[in-house]
Amino acid sequence: MSVSVPPVFAPRPPGRVLPTLNEDGSRRWIRPKWAKGDWGARRRVLAWALMLVWLALPHVRVNDRPFVLLDFPTRHFTIFGATFLPTDTILLMLLLVSGLIGIFLLTALFGRAWCGWACPQTVWMEFLFRPIERLWEGGERGSLRMDAEPDRWHWRRWAKHATYAVIAVFLGNTFLAYFVGTDKVVQWMQLSPLDHPTPFVIMALFSGGVFFDFAYFREQFCLVACPYGRWQSALLDRQSMIVAYDARRGEPRGKGKARDGLGSCVDCGQCVAVCPTGIDIRNGLQMECVHCTQCMDACDAVMDKVGQPRGLVRYATRDGLDGKPRRVLRARTIIYPAAFSLFFGGFLYALGTKATADVTFLGAAGAAPYTVEPSGNVVNPVRVKVVNRGATARRFRVTITDAPEATLVAPTLPLAVEAGKSGLAGLFVVLPPSAFTNGVRTVTFRVDDGEGFTDEVTYRLAGPRRVTAAPTRGTP
Ligand code: SF4
Ligand code: SF4
Repeated sequence: MSVSVPPVFAPRPPGRVLPTLNEDGSRRWIRPKWAKGDWGARRRVLAWALMLVWLALPHVRVNDRPFVLLDFPTRHFTIFGATFLPTDTILLMLLLVSGLIGIFLLTALFGRAWCGWACPQTVWMEFLFRPIERLWEGGERGSLRMDAEPDRWHWRRWAKHATYAVIAVFLGNTFLAYFVGTDKVVQWMQLSPLDHPTPFVIMALFSGGVFFDFAYFREQFCLVACPYGRWQSALLDRQSMIVAYDARRGEPRGKGKARDGLGSCVDCGQCVAVCPTGIDIRNGLQMECVHCTQCMDACDAVMDKVGQPRGLVRYATRDGLDGKPRRVLRARTIIYPAAFSLFFGGFLYALGTKATADVTFLGAAGAAPYTVEPSGNVVNPVRVKVVNRGATARRFRVTITDAPEATLVAPTLPLAVEAGKSGLAGLFVVLPPSAFTNGVRTVTFRVDDGEGFTDEVTYRLAGPRRVTAAPTRGTP
C-alpha cells in the first residue's frame, strides 16, 4: 500500500529582505557608481584631509614629545600632547562621556553626519579602497563585469588584492606607531620579526583586519558590526537633519517625458546605483543609510538633465518634508549641549588644574622597614617615584619640611626625569630613636623642581618602639 506524502513547501522570502542579501540568501555585492557632484567633492576634500591627519599624527612631535602615543606597557597615554596615567580615571571618564554626548548632539542636529563624512570606515572605503577597485576592475562599474568573470584568478583581481594588501600593511604599521612611536616602528622594520614577535603579531593582525574589512566585509561593518547605526532611531527625531527624498514632490514617480500626473522622480534608479549600502532612499529613512550624500549628487545631476530644480533628494528634516517649520531649540538640543558643556568643561578644568608631576613615596622593596646604626640612629629606606607630565625634562629635589633633626641621604637626587616619563630614586632618612613615638614618626616630604612645581607628601617612618642601646634590625 502506498502512502501519499504531502508535499513540503519551503517558505519563499517575499523578495529581497536586505539590501545586501540576494533572495537565495547569498551575499549581494554592492558595486556603487561614483556620483560626481558638489557634495561628493566636499566629502573628498575632507576625507583626504582626515586620512592625511590619521597618517601624520604618529609622526607629529611637540617639544620633542609625541603628540599622540598610547604606550600600554608603561600605561602612559599621550593624547594631543597631554599625558594620562592609569590613575587619571576621572579625566578619561569625563573625556569619554563628553565624546559620547557630543555624538548624541551631532546626530540630533545633523543625523549620521559622522558616518557619511568622517568615519574611517566610510572615508577609507569610499576614497581609497573603492577608487582602487574601480581602477583595477575597469571604470565606474567594472566590478560588475568582474563579478561575472568566471576566471577566479583573473589578473585584475590579483592586482586589486595585491594593492589592498600593500596598503593594509602600511596602515598596520601606522597603527602600530600609535602605540610604540614611529622611531621604534622604523627600527623594527629593519629587524627580523622574531626580534619583536608581539608587536609584529599586533601589526599583522591589524593589517589582516584592514584587508578583510575593505576587501570583503565592507558595508557589512556599518550594517551589522557598528552599534551607532542601531542607535539612530533613538538619537534622531523628526527635526534632525537627514538625507531624505521629498516624496511630496517626487511621487507618483514614473519614467518618460510626458509628466502629466507624475511627480519629479523619473524613476531612473541613479540614487540606488550610487548607494554604497544598496538601499533606495525613496523608501524613507533607513537604518542602512550612512548619509553619504551620494544619492543627492546623483539625483541633482538627473534633475539638471530633465530641467527640474535640484533637491528632490536633499538634506531635510522629516517635519520639514511635511511642511512643518524647523525648530532648532528642542529638548535634546538643549539637554545635550548642557550635558556636553558640563562634562567637557569638567574635563578641561581637571586637565588645566592637574599638577605637572605626580609624586609617590614608597618603602624599599624587599628591605626591612628600618635599621638601627651602631650610633643608635634609625635609618628608613624610602623610594620616591616621580612622573613628569610636563613638556620638558626636569630635575626633582626632595627635602623634609618638619623634622629638623632628620638627615636625608640621597645619592641619586636630584632625580632627572624626561618629559612624559617616570623616574625612581632611593633615599635614606636618618633620625635619632627619640624621634619616634610608639615606633612611628610622620614626616612631610617636599618635592620641587626649582621651576615652580612643589608637592608635599606626608609619610610614616618606622622605628623601634623602645629605645635600646644595642644596634639591631627590626620591624615596626
Ligand atoms: S541612501 Fe543616499 S545617503 Fe544614504 S547611504 Fe545610500 S547613497 Fe548614501
Ligand atoms: S535619482 Fe532622483 S529621479 Fe532618479 S530615481 Fe532617484 S530620486 Fe528618482
